Parts: sequence; structure tokens; C-alpha cells
Amino acid sequence: MDAAALRADFPILDQEVNGHPLVYLDSAATSQRPLPVLDAEREFLLRHNAAVHRGAHTLAAEATDLFEDARATVAGFVGAQPDQLVWTSGATMGLNLVAYSIGNASIGRGAPASAQLALRPGDEIVTTAIEHHANLIPWQELAARTGAVLRHIPAHDDGTLDLAAAAEIIGARTRIVAFTHVSNVLGIVNPVAELVALARSVGALTVMDACQSAPHLPLDLPSLGVDLAVFSGHKMLGPYGVGGLYGRSEVLEAMPPFLTGGSMITTVTLDGAEYLPPPQRFEAGTQPIGPAIGLAAAVRYLDGVGLEKVHAHERMLADRMRAGLVEIPGIRLLGDAPGERVGLWSFDVAGVHAHDAGQFLDSRGIAVRVGHHCAAPLHARYGVTASVRASAALYNTVDDVDAFLDAASGIRPYFGV
Ligand code: PLP
Repeated sequence: MDAAALRADFPILDQEVNGHPLVYLDSAATSQRPLPVLDAEREFLLRHNAAVHRGAHTLAAEATDLFEDARATVAGFVGAQPDQLVWTSGATMGLNLVAYSIGNASIGRGAPASAQLALRPGDEIVTTAIEHHANLIPWQELAARTGAVLRHIPAHDDGTLDLAAAAEIIGARTRIVAFTHVSNVLGIVNPVAELVALARSVGALTVMDACQSAPHLPLDLPSLGVDLAVFSGHKMLGPYGVGGLYGRSEVLEAMPPFLTGGSMITTVTLDGAEYLPPPQRFEAGTQPIGPAIGLAAAVRYLDGVGLEKVHAHERMLADRMRAGLVEIPGIRLLGDAPGERVGLWSFDVAGVHAHDAGQFLDSRGIAVRVGHHCAAPLHARYGVTASVRASAALYNTVDDVDAFLDAASGIRPYFGV
């Protein structure tokens, strides 16, 4: 894969920051968009913009076709059928949609099939100690509303999940197992097959956060066996404000709506309403039409390069980053497990606050993320409140990594520690 050649599609990368060539290593927070994504949105707005589905006019029909084609393209990217993909505004909304829908089922809303999703006091929701807040707080809230108990699969020091503990925790009372495919702090690819098998053995629903895997690994959600999964457009070369919720058809069928209103109904009277089948049941109101079309262009771009190649390239960059970081005195990697991973590392710099380290790197043109990366409990697990995270994407080069390592080696000397 020729990352240097791809960069021509990402003009933003071709600039100097603070007198140095920009080295963008913050793609786990948001990725950059290639020209075909910007072009697709622009073309839509310039030539076809209209609200979808109910218009009698030509532009509305064109917009509807483009929007539904985008659904088919993005669904296909994760191995799903078009009606298994619900548009959301991002991963956070997708996870809240699932949690609120199950909450609604728990108070008797929805079709008869919804009862199978209902939680009762004492039922258990299992998540992990390494989640992004988006895959933690909605479950805390759902537990509080239903009387369910929230439990967590712990992680080993190397960042891998403790599967022996998972086998103990996932039991007869478990109704939901929610876990991330790849942690946005650790970069480790979690053992989906094992977690799905444990959940299935007790009839629990699986919910996977695929934000940090969808842009970096070939992803076939049906063959992974998860019931529900979310991903976020802006982390996979796509626009802000759009994401996807994938669901197995039987599960989506059983879920009551979360948001209600226009575009998700068959009939409405002053006293009640009948709802459309999925995915429209979950798409109340005007959808992010242009962003969805942009996201389809983004996944076409990723597919054009090839996810196997993207993964191999980013893995090479991750290995190079690790080799350099472990040589720098005072740097401690969070989650230094050997197995499968994507191209990101988070680290702690002894004696230097992560924010200071980040500012120093910025003064050398290096863009990284600092803080708890919306995973405060995971940082507490490592005894820190913040870390520095360098995260690569397909457009990063070996030169980027070397410039980052060169600058990183200067952090502690600069601060005199
Ligand atoms: N899950 C993970 C692992 C993430 O990295 C993020 C974004 O930082 C999210 C969920 C939330 O995604 P969004 O802000 O796009 O809803």
C-alpha cells in the first residue's frame, strides 16, 4: 500500500504546523476525509439535495435513490443487508438507541416480541473495564431505570480482557454483553468469538462497539455473530453527524423505537401510532442524507484500497511506533499485549503531564490526543488520569512515525525530568 501516494487525496495533510510538516496522529479521535468524500457530499448538495422518501418530485426521487444506495453500500461494507443498517448520528447515538429501546421494552412498550428484550430487577448487563464512556454510561442509565445490575469484565495489565473472569461473570442472569471490538485507548483487538460464545451460552444479547475497528480491519459483522454493533462515520474517513447501527434482523424486529416522530410510522391517530419495520422504525425525523452519501464514498474509498492492506500497513506503523517508544526512558505503554492490534498506542510520560507532552509534540507539528480519551475508568485502572495517544490511519507514513518518535524522545529532556 502506497500511503505517500494516497496523501494526494487528503490535502489537509500537506501543510506546516508550527514550522514543521504536519504529522497527523489523531485519527482515533477523527479521521481526515479524502477528496472523493468531500466531492460526494458537494455533488449531492449541488445537484440532488432534497428530503428523501415522500417527495413526488424528481430531486426527491434522486435523493432517495442516493440515500438508499448509500445504505446498501455501507451495509455491504460490514457484511450486512441494507435493512440491517440503521442510520444514526454516530456511535454514541447508536448505543443510546439500543439502551433506550431495551428500556422501552422493559416498561412493556413495543410489539409482543419486544418482551424478550425486557430487563427485570436483578437481571445483569455485562460490559468491560476498558470501554469508551459511550459504551458504559448508557448501560449505567439502563441499569438505573430497570433495576438491572451492571457488571464489568476486568482487564489484565497488558490490556487484554480477562476471559476467565468473563466466564465467571457471564451467567444465568446476564441479559446483555456490551463490549468494544478495539479499545480507543489500547488498540488491542478483543476476542469477539469468545465473548459471543459466552453470551450465547446464556442467551444474552451482544452489543459491539466497532468504532475503532471499522476503519482499520476487514469487518464482517454477521460472521462475527454479534447481535448489534455500532460505528461512527467521522472515524472512518466519512463526515461528522452520521454513523451506523447494525442489527441481526430478528433483534431489530423485536426492538421498540427510541426516538419517535415523522418518517417512522405507518398510521397515526390522535391517540396512537403504528410503526414501520426496521430500519425506518429507528429513523425518526430528517436523516443526515448528505453525510450518509459521504460515508458511502468513504467506505468505497477504504474498499478501493483494501482493508487487508490498510490493516497490514497500520500494523507495520504500530510495530514501528512500539519499537521506538519502548526505547524512550520514562515512557510507559498502556496495554502492551503482543497479539492483534490497530495502529495506536497510548502512553504515560513519567514526570510530564499528558497535556504538556501534547503541547510539546504540537510545537513540533505532531498532532496527538491527550486526556482520558473518554475512558476514565480504564485510566484509573492504570493509575493515571490522562495519557498521550498516537493513532495512525491509512494515510500515515513511516516518516510520520519517525518524526513522532524523534519528537517524543525530546519530551522529558525539554521538561527537565
Ligand atoms: N466508542 C469508541 C471506542 C470511540 O472511540 C468513540 C469516539 O471517540 C465513540 C465510541 C463515540 O463515537 P462518536 O463520538 O462518534 O459518537
